[in-house]
Amino acid sequence: MSAQLINPPGASAGPASSSLPIAGVIPFSTCDWPGKLTITAFVQGCPLRCRYCHNPALQPLGDRGGYHGFEGVQSFEEVLDLLDARRGLIDALVVSGGEPLAVPGLADAIRRTHAAGFPVGLHTSGYSPARLRRLLADSDTRPDWIGLDVKGLPGDLPAVAGVTSAVAHRMWQSLDIAADTAHSSGMGLQLRTTSWPGSVVESHLPELKAAARARGCELVVQSARGCDAEGYYRG
Ligand code: SF4
Repeated sequence: MSAQLINPPGASAGPASSSLPIAGVIPFSTCDWPGKLTITAFVQGCPLRCRYCHNPALQPLGDRGGYHGFEGVQSFEEVLDLLDARRGLIDALVVSGGEPLAVPGLADAIRRTHAAGFPVGLHTSGYSPARLRRLLADSDTRPDWIGLDVKGLPGDLPAVAGVTSAVAHRMWQSLDIAADTAHSSGMGLQLRTTSWPGSVVESHLPELKAAARARGCELVVQSARGCDAEGYYRG
């Protein structure tokens, strides 16, 4: 990330909203969507428990009614205001996490960003294929680009990302949904994974790369930084 994080997790932020819960914003980033200058907004909430997670403060999810009283969460209105203020200086908005597919308000946030004249990039693990399918079915709510983090083979995901086997298999359905949409609609798609030395992710990179190629993508391999030999983030 290339710039100051506005309202980092834990900061006081005034009234929360039932719209997309925003834990923090990077007002200028060159590295969240290849080739684009973006504002990047981080949602509050993630049901995964990746062992290399750098931002565990982003993991707690709000209740069904929203994020009232959740310290550090700001309204998506503020992101729209920032986009408007930076019109002509930035290309797009990236919604990152946390896990955007696990929190309320994503479709509405994308629709409103499109209506404001900005393309939208989405960072996701593919946590909810049902929700992803609904987003992609409507051009108003379809992201213009997705960076899909393939965190491991389905059999490795429980150990790598702390999900059940059922969720792991659903996450892989999202690969096919995203790839099919990329081919049919021209939506941009990057598949990536995060690895560390000696990990199951590293040992299964050939299978992961083959799975990405089978879906028309090259796998981008990122290194987990600041992790011990077991992959746990130590800062
Ligand atoms: S997807 Fe993993 S790395 Fe990202 S916020 Fe959730 S637990 Fe952390």
